[in-house]
Formats: sequence, C-alpha cells, structure tokens
Amino acid sequence: MSDFPQCESPLESLVSSQEPMTRSRVFMRRAGTHLGLNDKTIAELVSPQEVRVLRIPCKILGKVIVLWGVLALHNNARGPFKGGIRLASDVSLWETVELSRLMTLKTAVTDIEFGGGKTGIRVDMGEMYRIFGRTPLDREFEKIISLDAVEYYSQAMRDVFSSHYYVPAPDMGTGPDEMAFIYNETLDPASVTGKPEGTPGWQPGRRESTGYGVSFVTVSYIQGWMGKPLPETTVAIQGFGNVGSYAALYLAEQGARIEAVTDFYGGTCRKGGLDIEALSKHVARTGTVRGFSGGDSLTNEQLFALDVDILIPAAAGHAVTKENAPSIRAKAVVEAANMPTTLEGMDILTERGIRVLPDILVNAGGVIASMEEYSRSLSAAKTPQDRMFSTIRDLLGSALHLTVQRSKDLNITLSEAAVSLAVERVYDAMKRRRMI
Ligand code: NAD
Repeated sequence: MSDFPQCESPLESLVSSQEPMTRSRVFMRRAGTHLGLNDKTIAELVSPQEVRVLRIPCKILGKVIVLWGVLALHNNARGPFKGGIRLASDVSLWETVELSRLMTLKTAVTDIEFGGGKTGIRVDMGEMYRIFGRTPLDREFEKIISLDAVEYYSQAMRDVFSSHYYVPAPDMGTGPDEMAFIYNETLDPASVTGKPEGTPGWQPGRRESTGYGVSFVTVSYIQGWMGKPLPETTVAIQGFGNVGSYAALYLAEQGARIEAVTDFYGGTCRKGGLDIEALSKHVARTGTVRGFSGGDSLTNEQLFALDVDILIPAAAGHAVTKENAPSIRAKAVVEAANMPTTLEGMDILTERGIRVLPDILVNAGGVIASMEEYSRSLSAAKTPQDRMFSTIRDLLGSALHLTVQRSKDLNITLSEAAVSLAVERVYDAMKRRRMI
C-alpha cells in the first residue's frame, strides 16, 4: 500500500472523501509507474470522468419508494461507457466508481471498443419485504421491485441510453427482463445489451456468456498450468446466479467435479461432484441452493476452506480477505465475480503460492458478448450461439496469452499483468484523442 502516496484523485477532492485503497487503484498506479507515467497522469487514469448521484422516486405496488443510485462513468477513450446495472443493499459511490474502473480495464485488456461505466442502485430487499408486509424469498415480489426500479431509472436516463453515451447491461440483481424494460423506454436495440430472447437486437448466448468465459479460462488454466485431467479436478463455487450457475454447468459438462456451491442463503456439497442440472432445477423451484437433496449442507465460510483444486468466487465483491485467505486450500482462485479478492487477501494468496486468475479477464465473456450484441443490434440476423462462444474463446484466449507473457516478462502477478496491459491501451487511446 505504501506505493500509493500523494496521488490525489480529482473526484476525492471534490466530494471530500477518500476512496478506499482498492486493488484496482494500487495496481493501476504500479502499472502507470512501470510505464513511466507521472503522478498526475496516473491520477487522471484512475479517476472517473463523470459521476452522477441519482434520486429515483418509484411507484411500486401503489406506494412511492425513493431509491438512490450512482452512475459512474469511468473512461470512454476506447469506446462508449459500458457496464452493468447493479441492485444491492450495499451500493455506494466509491464501490460503483471502482466497478466502473474495472469495466475500463476489462474492455481494454480484451481489446474491445468500449470504455467503462457502472450503475449502482441501492435496493434493500429486506426493507422492501417489511414495507410491503411480504414474506421473504418471494421471487415474484422481488421481480416487481427490480423491474420497477430499472424502469424508473431508465425513464430518467433515456437520453443517456439513446445516445449510446452509456450502454448498460445486467449485473448483480438484474437480468434480461430488466434490460427489456430499458429497450421499452428507448426503442433502440443498441441502447442496452443483455436483452432477452425475442426482444429486438437480442443475441443467443449473451445470457450464458459470462459463465461460459469463466469456464473457458478455468479449463485453459487446468490444462495449461496444472496439467490435471478435468475429471480429476475439483471445484468450489460461491454464487449460483447468472455467472456461477453457467460456469458450473459448462465446467461440469466438460467433466470437472463441482463439489460445492453456496449462495446468499447457504450451500450444498458432495464429494465426487454435485449434479449441476438437478441443482439448477432445485434453484429454479426454491430460489436457493440451500436444502438441495443431492448434497450435504455447507456455509460460505466452510466453502472457502475446502480442499479443492479451484475456488471460484462468483457472487459479491471482497469475498477473499485477509481473514479467510490464510485458510484457502485451493491451488487457484478464479475470480468470476468483480473484485472478489481484496488487496490484503491477494497479498496473502500470492505469498502462499496460490495463483489468482484476475476478474477483468475471467469474467469478460459477458462484455465480449455485449460487443457482439451491440454491433449486430440493427441487423435482423442473429449470430448463432456457437459463433458467439468462438469469439469469446478467441478474445479471452488472446488476452490470457498476453497477460501470461507480461507476467513472466516483468515477474509480476497475472492480476498486475492484466491491469498493466489495460492501462497501456487506455493511456494510448487518451493520448491519441488528446484527452490527456
Ligand atoms: P446474480 O444476482 O445473478 O447472482 C448472484 C449470486 O451470488 C446469487 O446466487 C446470490 O445468492 C449470491 N450471493 C450474493 N451475495 C452473496 C453473499 N454475500 N454470499 C454468498 N453468496 C452471495 O449475479 P451475477 O450476475 O451472477 O453476478 C455475480 C458476480 O459476477 C458479481 O460480482 C458481478 O458483478 C459479476 N459479473 C457479472 C456479469 C454478468 O454478466 N452477469 C459479468 C461480469 C461480472
């Protein structure tokens, strides 16, 4: 941390609050220093270009509920601001800024023509259940809340979306249904990606793309570095939403043994591997992996200490910390979630020789699919899913290759190498466009 001195962020000075010393800031500084950039330039690269704090009054089931949110637009030197809409109870300004920065790094490391942005809308489902007098785990009720929140948000942001200044997509708490509501508002297929089947401009494979990309990077690692046959490789996954469930499905399809899965409510495990299709059916019925009859119960804490080959955090951020990193027994952590490993957690894993495959590469399958969806949105023809998946393999494969090469050349971690590649590309684009 000592390598992040007086680099003042312009946003910090305006809002008079300091952004936590996150991994992306520290790694960007290290990368910038390596590239010979001065403190001021690094601060410009780290800082978002624009941040909006939003008050979103919504009429939900006859009541007016005021939600608050943040739109962080980090960098558009390489293309339109791109990034998902997150609904969660712990949304904050600095977290949204960091997530938007990760999008800039992600689109740059995979070399696609987007920048980085993010929306966070603070929705406390527990409070919603109390306000409306409902009993928790009512999926229909939660859907009403998320659809209404996104509908009112998109009404307020119609011009931003219609001009493609910022192109949203799903993130935690939102999915294709919410993206269809954005399309309803703009009637422009290129204004949003991650749209559901049947909505103009949708693309087959977008829904599965992030999880597919996670499985591709994981298998590349298992075959390329571990040299272990897939059927002998054991995996534990935190999170069984869009990303975790498809990652599990594609890994299991290729023979890997998914021995444990947890979500917000609990977990399930089985030595030798869970039946992922049966687990998916259980989740579709109950809304959680907890109580799955094909496995024994397990907590999130227990999941992180399991003796497996690969640990995949695919839920919330900051899941691997200085508290649990010392007890992780996996040989590699594949970061399917955004920023699941804290800086301190990362240092401990590195010291212990546990390799971390970085989020900006591992979960970039989704934004690659978004690029396909965006670029083809005005065409009535669809790219078949296998072509979409082959684009994901090409771009992720090449980003992985360059990252590994840079990591070896500079003797730095894979995470530092991926950020270094991205920073170089963003800086070059900013220079070329006289933005810096
Ligand atoms: P989702 O809302 O579909 O699913 C989230 C899953 O995580 C659920 O199973 C939920 O129960 C679980 N979860 C949430 N908080 C938890 C906690 N504190 N402890 C344990 N489990 C918890 O979300 P998603 O779209 O699958 O996104 C998961 C992660 O992947 C997020 O970090 C997101 O930013 C990142 N990501 C998503 C996409 C995408 O295309 N959806 C793309 C890139 C990165």
